[in-house]
Amino acid sequence: MVLRYRQHIMTSELPGLIFDEAYEKRIEDQVYDHGVSLSANGRKIVGLYCAFTPKEIVAAAGGIPVSLCAGSEDPFLVAERHLPANLCPLIKSSYGHAAADTCPYFHMTDFLLADATCDGKKKMFELLSRLRPLHLLLLPQSAEAPESLGVWEQEIKKAAAFLEKMTGNAVTDDNLSRQIRIYNRLRGAVESVFALNKGQIPQVYGSEITRIISSGGFECDPGAHIARIRSAVEKIRGRAKEKAFAAQMKKRPRIFLTGCPTTNKKVLFLIEQSGGAVVAMETCGGLKTVGNKVDETLPPLHALAEKYLGTACACMTPNTGRLDLIENLVKDFQADGVIELTWTACHTYNVEAFSVKERVENTCEIPYMQMLTDYSENDMGQLETRIQAFLEILS
Ligand code: SF4
Ligand code: SF4
Repeated sequence: MVLRYRQHIMTSELPGLIFDEAYEKRIEDQVYDHGVSLSANGRKIVGLYCAFTPKEIVAAAGGIPVSLCAGSEDPFLVAERHLPANLCPLIKSSYGHAAADTCPYFHMTDFLLADATCDGKKKMFELLSRLRPLHLLLLPQSAEAPESLGVWEQEIKKAAAFLEKMTGNAVTDDNLSRQIRIYNRLRGAVESVFALNKGQIPQVYGSEITRIISSGGFECDPGAHIARIRSAVEKIRGRAKEKAFAAQMKKRPRIFLTGCPTTNKKVLFLIEQSGGAVVAMETCGGLKTVGNKVDETLPPLHALAEKYLGTACACMTPNTGRLDLIENLVKDFQADGVIELTWTACHTYNVEAFSVKERVENTCEIPYMQMLTDYSENDMGQLETRIQAFLEILS
């Protein structure tokens, strides 16, 4: 069977770019081949969709986690046979690739772990469970209610029991603690990439950051991933010494990107191709998930529950942690402006955008712009014009 999976819709041509599409493709190919060989040797591939499920429990059960949120509009027609057309593109794309069997990663999965996050995803998971065995973690709606932590710890325990049943391996405190240490090291490595942009002159494009920190698909070897990140950081530091590179980076307005996951990178690419520097991203695949480490001194399941429940996703209410996170990161990265990406029909992030705008304009005292869009390329010209006008204000 020929599987088709197009996620990157634009090529980027930025001065001095090191980590380009070719780099990303090379890593993806290597990691994919490794994952396939491990799967052939009996390791289970476990598909994940949201940032609340601890990957540590998957790895502790000997499984290989793979994130399946998708970023292309290719499978929309297939998705719309079962889902409404006016649904968030991330949900349609993820489901469409699974239903059409055009995602090689979904194709390889043995089973799925999903979190009950936003309404669209929850209901989509019901349909997805027809394609693969799926365990749903019932996420509390609030991280602040006193009972939520205990509830979430129980949910993680149930997910661990499901993993034990599906893999035949025990999830012990010892192997959980080991995975917690590994994933904390990985979080530290990811933070070190972002940290390159905290100084007076940004050192790395946001589009490069997404490629450097990406696991490349299957997370079969976090140690190799950490080593790749460290080597990338060294290369970036070397490039930062080049005068011409530093001079053009200095001129770029510093943009902090927030909002929905940047599964489709068109807005990120457009900002940088229009002359901005995306210094940091507060999104699912960015700083939202790596800031807080798992406490290595606590009992492992409790520590995981505490860390993951604190994920500042707009499906939680209230979600003031996200506003505080944005405020702190805007300061740390000396952002000149904030751009909020909202996928069409994402009601949670769209409603929360009001509070984000308020915090950014009134407390951080910098300009804010929201971009409401989907995965299509039809509005690229319009988005580009708006981004250019915004960057003009910041220059
Ligand atoms: S933003 Fe929230 S709902 Fe969307 S993918 Fe991330 S964790 Fe899931
Ligand atoms: S972008 Fe919004 S609607 Fe789409 S999956 Fe994430 S929270 Fe749900």
